[in-house]
Amino acid sequence: MGKIGGFLEIARVEQPERNPAERLHDFNEFVETLPVDGVREQGARCMECGVPFCHNGCPLGNLIPDWNDLVYRDRWREAIDQLHATNNFPEFTGRLCPAPCEAACVLEIREGDAVSIKQIEVSIINRAWDEGWVTPQPPKVETGRTVAVIGAGPAGMAAAQQLRRAGHTVTVYERDEAGGGLIRFGVPHFKIEKWVIERRLEQLKAEGVEFRYGVDIGKDISPEELRAQHDAVVIATGSRVPRDLPVPGRELDGVHYAMEYLYDRARVLDGNSPESPITAEGKHVLVVGGGDTGADCVGHSLREGAASVTQIELLGEPPAKRPDDLTPWPRWPVKLRTSYALKEGGERDFAISTTKLTGNGKVEEVHWVQNSGQPPFDAIPGTEESHPVDLVLLAMGFLSPEQDLLEGLGVERDARGNAKAGAYSTSAEGVFAAGDARRGQSLIVWAINEGRQCARVADRYLRSLPAVDPRDEESAGTSDRFGSPDLGADPPQIASQS
Ligand code: SF4
Repeated sequence: MGKIGGFLEIARVEQPERNPAERLHDFNEFVETLPVDGVREQGARCMECGVPFCHNGCPLGNLIPDWNDLVYRDRWREAIDQLHATNNFPEFTGRLCPAPCEAACVLEIREGDAVSIKQIEVSIINRAWDEGWVTPQPPKVETGRTVAVIGAGPAGMAAAQQLRRAGHTVTVYERDEAGGGLIRFGVPHFKIEKWVIERRLEQLKAEGVEFRYGVDIGKDISPEELRAQHDAVVIATGSRVPRDLPVPGRELDGVHYAMEYLYDRARVLDGNSPESPITAEGKHVLVVGGGDTGADCVGHSLREGAASVTQIELLGEPPAKRPDDLTPWPRWPVKLRTSYALKEGGERDFAISTTKLTGNGKVEEVHWVQNSGQPPFDAIPGTEESHPVDLVLLAMGFLSPEQDLLEGLGVERDARGNAKAGAYSTSAEGVFAAGDARRGQSLIVWAINEGRQCARVADRYLRSLPAVDPRDEESAGTSDRFGSPDLGADPPQIASQS
């Protein structure tokens, strides 16, 4: 375990961040990590609990107390092995996960005192890359079976890596021009620089995963052709149908989904600019939606030099402290959080219902009213307001995956439109689903977990097929690989805290 009684003498230290006034002038990552000794001290705070509730908070079942202790003891090489045992891409989760593990940490019973798990995680993987400990792990035996993975986001990447390491031939089809999915284009550079994703994609390629970019299944290749070319198909397309704002004036120029804006800006920064990129420069920006994507729109607009940025949220303002009657420890607390972006500038308001947008072809004014703060969000008479706006960004989440592909593949859907795949197998033989396409919009940590678990099920299916080559019965036979070392141990079934 960490240092006995360490948590009594060492305080939790948050990850350092670059000064907001300075970081607004560039698009580089703004979150930093403590020096090595500081990280080791944070690891020393872990009590290695008999019942580590951090495990329960982490969908991946990360072996958190183990690597906390290894970091404390300066055994970083073993720490990365423990971390990779359950998580293919800790540099993604260490940057982007909201850390439900910390909310569930036993030390968090005293609110704000959790072990700095996320900071320790990203420090381990940063060190591992720096030391050259992260290397390709191609399979030793080829099964002769082929798998198509649709979507190169975190779920698709995790599924592809696991299936390739199990010996299958894996091709990832991605309609965008590069891999990474939402974290490549939909999450700004200042939260995750894109070389971080490219570096991991290179590892997958070196392991033998083929990426085919700019290929839209259903347009460039029909679902029938895809199924004919591969023994199995994994759908990892994410949940990409955005929630709309059905108010008068929605059709005006200057009203966009958040992802349209963020994708455009990512491409501009990558030097792959669209013809008329959406820009916030010099504009009065309204962001509708109070979540992480809304915060990313605020942060990006500020960096672009917006004249003003306002973020509005339909729900009422949550309590400042964890409401123990509603979301007690170890549950994810519904409480007021101030995003990194609002530390940089902009304003926000809660319990706001947009009533209409007006303008002469182009949005010029937003009209809203305050509401009761909770369903059914009754308008409060006399609170109507209007404000000038030039750009409205809709960041109200996603409803479901796009339906055409699921239909084309003959996959049944649930009431929300997600692929119906209770145990990752869909209603179509040999077709599996993982990530947001199966469970709906969720956290990156869930996407990686889903990719890993889906790979286990697809692998078992592929090995149940008749042998490809009679001389290779051992690799392509009916052996059950469930729980094999190649694909990792089965994590506990954990309910979502997202
Ligand atoms: S719950 Fe917190 S203190 Fe306990 S083992 Fe996990 S990280 Fe360590």
